[in-house]
Amino acid sequence: MAIAKDIRIDLSPEDIPKRWYNLAADMGNLEPPLNPGTGKPATPDDFKAIFCKEIIRQEGSAERFIDIPEEVRDNLIYLNRPAPLQRACRLERYLKTPARIYYKREDMSPLGSHKGNTALAQAYYNAEAGVHTLTTETGAGQWGTALAMVSNLFDINTTVFMVKGSYEQKPLRKMLMHTYGATVHASPSAQTEFGRKILKEHPETTGSLGMAISEACEMAAKDAETCYSLGSVLNHVMLHQTVIGTETIEQMRIGEIEPDYMIACAGGGSNFGGFIFPMLGEKIKGRTDCKFIAAESKAAPSLTEGEFKYDFGDTAGFTPLLMMYTLGQEFVPKGIHAGGLRYHGMSPLVSAAMNRGMISAQAYEQVETFEAGVTFARTEGIVPAPESCHAIKAAIDQALECKRKKEDGTIVFCLSGHGMLDLYGYEQYLNGTMQSSSI
Ligand SMILES: *Cc1c(COP(=O)(O)O)cnc(C)c1O
Repeated sequence: MAIAKDIRIDLSPEDIPKRWYNLAADMGNLEPPLNPGTGKPATPDDFKAIFCKEIIRQEGSAERFIDIPEEVRDNLIYLNRPAPLQRACRLERYLKTPARIYYKREDMSPLGSHKGNTALAQAYYNAEAGVHTLTTETGAGQWGTALAMVSNLFDINTTVFMVKGSYEQKPLRKMLMHTYGATVHASPSAQTEFGRKILKEHPETTGSLGMAISEACEMAAKDAETCYSLGSVLNHVMLHQTVIGTETIEQMRIGEIEPDYMIACAGGGSNFGGFIFPMLGEKIKGRTDCKFIAAESKAAPSLTEGEFKYDFGDTAGFTPLLMMYTLGQEFVPKGIHAGGLRYHGMSPLVSAAMNRGMISAQAYEQVETFEAGVTFARTEGIVPAPESCHAIKAAIDQALECKRKKEDGTIVFCLSGHGMLDLYGYEQYLNGTMQSSSI
C-alpha cells in the first residue's frame, strides 16, 4: 500500500520562506505603543536605548512583507527548517475520531522550540549594528537557550536573567545555556538596581518574567553597545515567527489539507501568531473559513480573563505601554511547569485579533494538559513541551467534538517544542503530586 501523501509533508531547504508576513499591514488602525511619560504614541527614539535600528523599524512597520536576509535564511537550515507537517494518525486512531489531526514540528529544532526563528534574526540585526552584548529574560529557559546558541554565530555575548523559580527548579536549562556560552543570573538579581530593590522588599520571591524583563532592559539601557532582546510579545518577534505559518500554508497546499481549526498555545503569543497570522491574512482576504484557537494556562489566562487595556510589558515600568490583554504588570503567576505560558500580557497583534473576534481562546488546568501530553507521547512518540501540551489538549477536545457530532473535520496545531528537559513535570503528573494551576 502506498503511504498517503499527507502523512508527513517535508519541504526542501530552498522552500524556506524568502519573506516574513506582517499582519499589521492587514489590520487597519491599531492602537500604537505609548510613551508612559508623555502619554503620546511612542517614537523610534523611545526604543533606542534598548533596541537596534532595524528591529525598531520592523516593530513599527506596516509593510505587508519584509525580506528575510540571506544569512538568516542560510542559518535557519541548521535549526532544521523547513519543519515537517505531520499527520497524527495514531492519535486519531486512539481517539476514534473521524477528524484528521496534523501538527507542525517546531520540536525538531536542536534548540528544542520555535524560539530560534526570531533569536537568529535578532542576533543578526544586532551584530550588523555593532552590538557586542545582548541581555534578555527567560522563564522556563527555552528563549535563553535559543539566544545563547545563535549569539555564537554572530560573535555576540548573551546575558540571561532567568526567573528564579525556574533557575532553581530547572538546572538542566541553566546548564544548557552555560554550554552555549551565556552568562545566567537568577532574577531578581543583585546585578541591577531594580533587582536589588525587589530583593530588599521581597527576599523570598520566586521572580516573574516581568521582573526579569525589567532587569534585562535596565542593563541594556546603561551601555550603548548592549541591547535587549525579547523572545515574544512584540510585533517584530511575531513577524520573524511567520516562517512557521508560511511553511505550513505551502505544506497544506501540497497535501490538499483544508483546515477547519488552527491551534497553538499562547504565552506571549509568538508561536501562535507565527503559526496562524499568514492564514489569518488569507481569511481577511476571504480565502478560507479556518478558525483559530489560542490555548493558554489557567495560571496566566490573559486572553480569557485579562483586560484589554494599555499596560507595561515589564514589572518596573521601563517599557512603552502596550495595548493588550493583560492581568496587570505586577501579576505573579503560580509556578507551573509551562514556564513559557506565565506572562502577564499578550502580544498586541494577537490581542487586537482577539478583541476583533478574529480568534478565540481557551484556558486549561495544568493536570489536564499533561494528560494530553502523555497521550500524545504514547501515540505519536514525541514528548511535548508543557506549553505545547496546551495546544494538544485543545486539539484533542476539538477532535472529540467531531466524534460526538459524527462530523469529520481538519485540525492543524503547532507543536511548539519538545519536553525532554521537562521530564520532572511528567514524573509529577504520573505519580499524582502535580498541583492545580488555577489562580
Ligand atoms: C516560549 C514557549 C512558548 C510560549 O511562548 P509564545 O511566545 O506564546 O510562543 C510555547 N511553547 C514553547 C515550547 C516555548 O518555548
